[in-house]
Amino acid sequence: MPHPQLTVVVPCFDESEVIDAFHAALVAALEPTGTRFEICYVDDGSGDGTADRLRALAAGSPRVRYTSFSRNFGKEAALLAGMRMARGEAVVLMDADLQHPPELVPRMLELHRNGYDQVVARRDRAGEGALRTAVSRAYYRLVRHFMDVEVTDGEGDFRLLSRRAVDAVLSLPESNRFSKGLFSWIGFPTAGFAYRNAERAAGGSKWGGRRLVDYGIDGLLSFNTRPLRLAIHTGLWLFLSALGYAGWIVVNTVVDGVDTPGYATLITAVVGLGGVQLATLGVIGEYVGRIYHEAKRRPHYVVAETDAPAPGHPDGVP
Ligand code: UDP
Ligand code: MG
Repeated sequence: MPHPQLTVVVPCFDESEVIDAFHAALVAALEPTGTRFEICYVDDGSGDGTADRLRALAAGSPRVRYTSFSRNFGKEAALLAGMRMARGEAVVLMDADLQHPPELVPRMLELHRNGYDQVVARRDRAGEGALRTAVSRAYYRLVRHFMDVEVTDGEGDFRLLSRRAVDAVLSLPESNRFSKGLFSWIGFPTAGFAYRNAERAAGGSKWGGRRLVDYGIDGLLSFNTRPLRLAIHTGLWLFLSALGYAGWIVVNTVVDGVDTPGYATLITAVVGLGGVQLATLGVIGEYVGRIYHEAKRRPHYVVAETDAPAPGHPDGVP
């Protein structure tokens, strides 16, 4: 088969209930466009037989390829594996649960043909819980404030990347991959459009509260060292206030001869400072941990099974 014009990369974790419906919908959306396409499924260590479904799909069509991980490595790792497998001139990343409507892919292709290297489908948050919406909004405001890269609310991983954009993402060596940030970091002309958020077709979301918070911390810390700067500012500010306060005590004692009753202020200062120190230490520790993590240079995932050997890519590909 000659090089496909389009590769669709689909990370799947426990999606056996929807994968067939998704595949049918995707093929139905792509076939009329006459595009030469391939679909790369990445099974992220599912325990529900998703890998068997993918094997069957791949056996039934030369346009389908798959890779299966040895355990769950997370969506970011699955996206990376998919982008490495992809041979298309353009690559679309989308979820398997039909929350990213396949009908939109031709529209993305159209925008790509008009010269855009990245095409982002932005979902509006209709139909999502009020709390979750509020938390996401606040999170993105915070991220924009702290990060050097532009990340927008509602921009998930449903996007098209041109070949050179994919190559740029793949050339980034870090092992902590916060792909929303990476996509924005590489630059290139980007177009976007909004679509209506759809309910998950079947199965459950794998993002609990804890996981979302961890994801948030990742996003904040993986792009710059501004939290460290914040720690220095806080420390300096506290130190200056302490100096001022000490001066005030001295003056008070000398001028007015007031004997300083100090227990309350003392304990407040000790506890307050202790808290700041612990938090700062935590921030530093987080960065040191990241350095440790990067220094190990582990592969992002381990492949258990694949029908798509990707020469030149070391990550666990046999
Ligand atoms: N996913 C994955 N590995 C994981 C978690 C999720 O590959 O550890 C995939 C999942 O199969 C789906 C996509 O990532 O195709 C989005 O997951 P989900 O629908 O659970 O997230 P949400 O839509 O709630 O953000
Ligand atoms: Mg989903």
